[in-house]
Amino acid sequence: MAEWHLIPSGRVWVDPGGPFGLVPRALWGRTQQANEHGLVPMDLTCMLIFSEGKTILVDTGLGDKLDEKGVRQWNLEYPQGRLLENLAAHGVRPQDVDIVLDTHLHGDHCSGNTTLIDGQLAATFPKAEYWVQRLEFADAMHTNERTRATYLPENYVPLWQQGKLRLLHGDTQVTKAVRCVVTPGHTRAMQCILYEGDPRPLLYVADLTSYAVHMERRAWVTAYDVEPLETIRTKGYWQDWALETQATLVFEHDTTMPLGTLTRTSEGKLKVQAAASAPTED
Ligand SMILES: [Zn+2]
Repeated sequence: MAEWHLIPSGRVWVDPGGPFGLVPRALWGRTQQANEHGLVPMDLTCMLIFSEGKTILVDTGLGDKLDEKGVRQWNLEYPQGRLLENLAAHGVRPQDVDIVLDTHLHGDHCSGNTTLIDGQLAATFPKAEYWVQRLEFADAMHTNERTRATYLPENYVPLWQQGKLRLLHGDTQVTKAVRCVVTPGHTRAMQCILYEGDPRPLLYVADLTSYAVHMERRAWVTAYDVEPLETIRTKGYWQDWALETQATLVFEHDTTMPLGTLTRTSEGKLKVQAAASAPTED
């Protein structure tokens, strides 16, 4: 029997032009409240899975390496605590993590991969193997003007040098219940994490849909998506899947609806309903 838990790792406040891209304020403003500085909140919610004796962590948030300027730029705060203390609440110490699944290598998803020990970069989870798509790693190693700011080598190059990165060639089974599925669009090789729970599956959607509302609106894509039309195609597939399976969806960045289920209203519109409990959680 597998077991999973959401693990908060921080909250940032960002310009809405990021998550909402070309969507007009008049539309997104109905779903998100900007603060007095015109910023909207994004959570950095990771996920812990126990499966077949393995302790698996999905994404690692912004970590603890940011200097004061970085913390200010992100407006980083910890309304629900930090990554390591929230793992500890489940009895997990850094050395207990067997596998870290990086959905992709953007700074807000994998900065917690590494930490500074006596001024030296080291793996935050010293015994873990870190799994990432090889194409994502290639893109992170060969950035361009558009992608440079968010691919930060200190989050993955030390792991690569120490042989701790496992580069994946497409969809990959982690345990019998857990699978990495490639979901191109936000980046060329982002991966979502599929947990084949009973009675319903669970999908950790990462930045396929930043907020729950992005799952309802196929054309709403973030400004950061490198292949927006590909996001729309990929999202269409997973919307159909989510409707059919009634899967539990984990929205990594959504502050009000971290867990939801996609439904169709009587008017035929897609609507994410909050999923209050974790159906497969022990
Ligand atoms: Zn993100």
